[in-house]
Amino acid sequence: MRANLQDQKSLLELAQLDIDLGRNASDKAKLLASKEIEAASDLALTLSDQLIDARNKVGDLELELKRSENDLELVETRIAKDKERLLTTSSPKDAQGIEHELTSLAKRKSELEDLELAVMEELDKVRSELDAATNNKAAAEADLANLREQLASNVTELDSERARLLASREKLIATLDSELAVVYQRKADRGSSVGRLIGRECGACRLSITATNLDEILALAPDEIAECPNCQALLVRS
Ligand SMILES: [Zn+2]
Repeated sequence: MRANLQDQKSLLELAQLDIDLGRNASDKAKLLASKEIEAASDLALTLSDQLIDARNKVGDLELELKRSENDLELVETRIAKDKERLLTTSSPKDAQGIEHELTSLAKRKSELEDLELAVMEELDKVRSELDAATNNKAAAEADLANLREQLASNVTELDSERARLLASREKLIATLDSELAVVYQRKADRGSSVGRLIGRECGACRLSITATNLDEILALAPDEIAECPNCQALLVRS
């Protein structure tokens, strides 16, 4: 089939544009299929659960601390009252009863103080856990946001590259002999469109052409375009 030298050059450019478009599409598919964002999103969710747990633990312990503080206050008030009563009573029997009560109140007070201390220690621990959980969650969410932003920007970049390639392709097709353009497209759809002849190798399928076939190809007029006998690509002689 006939193809002037300019068209032959355009065919090579067209094939390159189609290779670039194919790479562009597969790059985008790879980006969209990446599990990185899913993993980061799962991690952010897990850390969010951990944060809620830590917050609940702190809340529970703060309540417990408040309760034990109240109990202690009650016992202390009672002790103060009993001591006052002890000073004012004139009955030895009453005094004995009050002293007995003061002994058990002192024991109770000591128990409550121990409990309060233990709760405060535990509270310190879970508050540190809460701080760590807050920081971890914030870091994971920042990572996730960065990944999403990066993905969006990469996709935008690929989309504009694709638009550029398609515009160049359209421009090139418009300059091409229309019959040649149809043949090109048919071959491109089958997966092998154009190859440059380099030595005796077809640039499309990379297979060597036999000496007999090569002689026939090289004997063609310069504006006659050959086909690769192996892959049927249009063969451009450089
Ligand atoms: Zn070939």
